[in-house]
Amino acid sequence: MEEENLKYGMENEILFLDPVFTHNVWGGTRLRTEFGYEVEGNDVGECWGISAHEKGDCKVAEGKFQGEFLSKLWKEHPELFGYLNDPRFPLMVKLIDARDDLSVQVHPNNAYANEHENGSLGKTECWYVLDCEDDAAFVVGHNASDREELARMIEEGRWTEFIREIPVKKGSFVQIDPGCVHAIKGGLLVYEVEQNSDITYRVYDYGRLSGGKPRELHVQKSIDVIRVPAKPVEKCVIDASDVPRNQWNALVFCDSYRVWKLVLDGEMNFEQSQPFLLMSVLDGAGSINGVPVKKGAHLILPNGFGNVKLLGNMEIVASSVGSGSD
Ligand code: ZN
Repeated sequence: MEEENLKYGMENEILFLDPVFTHNVWGGTRLRTEFGYEVEGNDVGECWGISAHEKGDCKVAEGKFQGEFLSKLWKEHPELFGYLNDPRFPLMVKLIDARDDLSVQVHPNNAYANEHENGSLGKTECWYVLDCEDDAAFVVGHNASDREELARMIEEGRWTEFIREIPVKKGSFVQIDPGCVHAIKGGLLVYEVEQNSDITYRVYDYGRLSGGKPRELHVQKSIDVIRVPAKPVEKCVIDASDVPRNQWNALVFCDSYRVWKLVLDGEMNFEQSQPFLLMSVLDGAGSINGVPVKKGAHLILPNGFGNVKLLGNMEIVASSVGSGSD
């Protein structure tokens, strides 16, 4: 019996999470119609699949920790996460259904956020395109050549000149560093991995009104933190549509996170050697150590989980903490 506990004990329990949903003016219906989540409304913008944020804290769906908030598990069971020295769960994982354009934003880095936003973290984020229309684009970067021109373009509202739009397709992967001007455009279905922070400076909102008035813009802070000149396009975007099957394919390793894509066709075995591993099933169905999973599942393989046997036909994106957390 004891041996059995060692082999199949609680250490090896998969933490499945119940997502939290947000309603947004730019949201749609695809999270319900394509992912099967039971959420009402035609304005569902985001599914927070793995989040311990105060505005959307996921609960464990089943097992020993059923009903516990992820933020509480992080504090009370550090052994599940490799005893990382971080006061809050470091990452967030979301699905985003943008029926309409999101506002153009920029995030500060950790140092700026710490100084100007009460000790908050900055934000690095990345996007993997699940689906989009033929002419889909992201805003990634800008066309100002120095900070003076940047300030002039923003203050004079020369948005079409300022904003750099880049075409993307299904399987495109985009890294958004702090200081990078960015926006998700309408028609895109996106998977996002990001630092657990909501410090966002809104640069431009297409002149739209919300509740009869424009949403607040953060002009001075944006001008402070935007990187000038912007990183070249080819350093921001990769095509991850066609990757070798049955292996973890690295999409990005940075200070904040590591992200991999897996296309499973049949069987794959690996050892969970990260402090903890976040996984989302983005297509298909199968099993993890015999436990059935399908499209829309978000889960955590905790520290010391050991050997993992994946079976089925699935597309999975996994992530863990970055080199800044070692
Ligand atoms: Zn952002």
